[in-house]
Amino acid sequence: MNCLWLFFQTGGILGCMKIAVIGAGYTGLSAAYDFAREGHEVVLFEVNDRPGGLAMGFKEPGWDWSVEAYYHHWFASDHYMLDLIEELGLSEKVRFPRPYTVMLYKGKWYPFDSVLQALIFPGLGWGINKIRFGLVGLYLRLTKNWQPMEETTVDSWMRKWAGDKVYETMWEPMLKGKFGPHYRDVNMAWMWARFHARTSRLGTYQGGFQAFADDITEVLQNLGVEIHLSTVVEGISKELVVSTKVGQEDFDQVLVTTSPGLLSKLVPALPDNYHTGLRDLKSMGAIVLTLALKHQLSKQGYYWHNIPKDQDFPFLAVVEHTNYLSPDYFGGDHIVYCGDYRDPGHEYFSLSKEKLMEVFLPPLTRINPDFDPSWVKKSWLYRTKYAQPVPELNHSDKIPPLETPIPGLYFASMSQVYPWDRGTNFAVEIGRRAAVEMMSS
Ligand SMILES: Cc1cc2nc3c(=O)[nH]c(=O)nc-3n(C[C@H](O)[C@H](O)[C@H](O)COP(=O)(O)OP(=O)(O)OC[C@H]3O[C@@H](n4cnc5c(N)ncnc54)[C@H](O)[C@@H]3O)c2cc1C
Repeated sequence: MNCLWLFFQTGGILGCMKIAVIGAGYTGLSAAYDFAREGHEVVLFEVNDRPGGLAMGFKEPGWDWSVEAYYHHWFASDHYMLDLIEELGLSEKVRFPRPYTVMLYKGKWYPFDSVLQALIFPGLGWGINKIRFGLVGLYLRLTKNWQPMEETTVDSWMRKWAGDKVYETMWEPMLKGKFGPHYRDVNMAWMWARFHARTSRLGTYQGGFQAFADDITEVLQNLGVEIHLSTVVEGISKELVVSTKVGQEDFDQVLVTTSPGLLSKLVPALPDNYHTGLRDLKSMGAIVLTLALKHQLSKQGYYWHNIPKDQDFPFLAVVEHTNYLSPDYFGGDHIVYCGDYRDPGHEYFSLSKEKLMEVFLPPLTRINPDFDPSWVKKSWLYRTKYAQPVPELNHSDKIPPLETPIPGLYFASMSQVYPWDRGTNFAVEIGRRAAVEMMSS
């Protein structure tokens, strides 16, 4: 029901609201879209100079497409995102090229993006371990009963059902890579969701993810949303007054889409126990070094290199973007991301780009022995201390509801996406869910 219609129906008692959205990532963008379509007055605040949040991109003068600051793609099963794109009439811009994912085992790279390839992967031999691997994968793909799984860790569930060998070869290295010292705390529901919701087909947007964020932003502007880029929100009072460098503005409702830690800082008026709950939500940070190379790195054309932690690489993944998309979109440059997840206190967050390159470049010869640092034409370093929430045992009890204890103040973030692994698809889901809840309150 449109708010103007409601206004007349209720004699002005209910009607259009003035709503602030803090953050122009996909949670904020999709919520702003739904508010604006219903006729509400929306003001969107974003600290960066462009929309897109963690999925934003950057572009060199000679490139036709942008490159994501943190490597991104969609799964064919990302229906919240794909439905939104369809609603916006932009589906013809979605592409699903066929990339190749490989996994390192005993110094060799093995294809690893289909059930069949996983089954012929040599790391498990040909006996009972392969059967257990297959059966556990099938069970997790088919069952919908994830709730009991959050009472147990991946570590203990997998050891029990898949066995030590399967777990230690296939899943433990990935968990260690993503969650570092917290890997034994991750609950099994999170792992279930990865099996259940992911496909090997990977999608992107014509022009890159930044082009999509720009397209949505244009829709928002046409709907009358006021967008303030390069604007830091410094505080929000319990009366819903939003403060920035340029002044203060009051709202009927506010949706915050930042990290839980930042919400806590922005709104000191929240009750103490709520602050404690926000601070208890653990997360990992991410570091991505992006290289524009003169030559192709993986001669075999591999896109995603999964690197188990015990293989002695200083990062978790090497992603050759131009083995997924043509280098022609990037002026002939070969784009390679080296990415890692680390605790926010790790030295990778304070080392200079030059120092990190000294650590990150030498192992690239394990992908291509001819690689030489002189291949690097240009490099970029992106780091964020809030990248991947850590879902511990009974995580659902720790997730704050969308509505905070302050009336009219709502919070929707990656830390509340569960049991699914966070991603732009679930950012759209939680953003739109928050909009429905706020508009019906
Ligand atoms: C390394 C990495 C790889 C990923 N890969 C994928 C992938 O392949 N596919 C996928 O779908 N997802 C991927 N994700 C996850 C995806 O990026 C996130 O789930 C999604 O972007 C979260 O959107 P959001 O809007 O909830 O949060 P964010 O994108 O974090 O948006 C929050 C926004 O708030 C802004 N903000 C913060 N503080 C303030 C302030 N004080 N004032 C104003 N604005 C503020 C921020 O600048 C940001 O734009 C990846 C993430 C990382 C880190």
